[in-house]
Amino acid sequence: MIVDSLGRRFRNLRVSLTAACNYACTYCVPDGKRLQPAAHELSAEEMAYAVALLVDAAGIEKLRITGGEPLLSPKFEDLLPKVMALPLNDVSVTTNGQLVKRKIDALLNAGLKRVNVSLDTLQADRFRAIARSGDLDTVLEGLDLLHQAGLKIKINMVPMRTHNADQIMPMLEYCLERGFELRFIELMSMGHLRYGNQFQKDFLGMEEILETISRRYEFTRTDAPYDSTAVRFEIPDAGFFGVIANESEPFCSSCTRLRLSSNGFLYGCLSNSAHHDMKPILELPH
Ligand code: SAM
Repeated sequence: MIVDSLGRRFRNLRVSLTAACNYACTYCVPDGKRLQPAAHELSAEEMAYAVALLVDAAGIEKLRITGGEPLLSPKFEDLLPKVMALPLNDVSVTTNGQLVKRKIDALLNAGLKRVNVSLDTLQADRFRAIARSGDLDTVLEGLDLLHQAGLKIKINMVPMRTHNADQIMPMLEYCLERGFELRFIELMSMGHLRYGNQFQKDFLGMEEILETISRRYEFTRTDAPYDSTAVRFEIPDAGFFGVIANESEPFCSSCTRLRLSSNGFLYGCLSNSAHHDMKPILELPH
């Protein structure tokens, strides 16, 4: 069993299927430059094998397939059924939703039950200003398809002061009406946001998010699993929402996540560049 130097064992694994993305979100990349695939990305077979090894060696129970944009990769259709066949309690996909319509058969045929869709606004022009690509209606259509198919849906929204602060309530209403769980992700100071003043200008923390919601709703904090990254709230008779309070309530001490990059590097932490190369042990058995 893998245990880190702080005595934590790992239960959750996030795999980045590809580093490439069809969006160029303001909080992710500078100057509208889209992320490209990494050099020497793993094949679907290698990635599924790496996940199987980590299930065995680390006792991984929950898997999230992310990216880049996972639905952009032709490997997605191959990988999903392979990992769905592993002894995991939970498999989910995090996507920007732009390609859901095209990939809905692959998602449903593999028996996926949960999906997280990233959506920062319900206004088309703001959508383009943040994602710098794609279009809102296509994402909303994709969400309708997933909803009709009975998948459990969480929506990830990054509230930012200069882009979508006034979208907190419209997004919450949209999600409550449909039974989606909205999760506000506090802006993280990563990549290009570490430099300049965009992070300081745009950061909008949990306290202010809760204050905004409290003007319309009463809510109570609910129990979340020990290793959950979200602080979860219930609005009685209406639904749930959460805040991933990276800055306001850091969750490092209870983090149980490992990350596998698209080119086979295993990381213990998103904010730490220490990693191990899994490629040398991914010689597939014949
Ligand atoms: N392309 C997929 C998507 O859009 O969901 C998966 C990858 S994306 C990097 C995963 C999540 O990270 C998205 O919900 C996105 O909003 C969030 N994210 C990216 N950069 C962020 C930042 N600087 N602060 C907070 N959340 C961020």
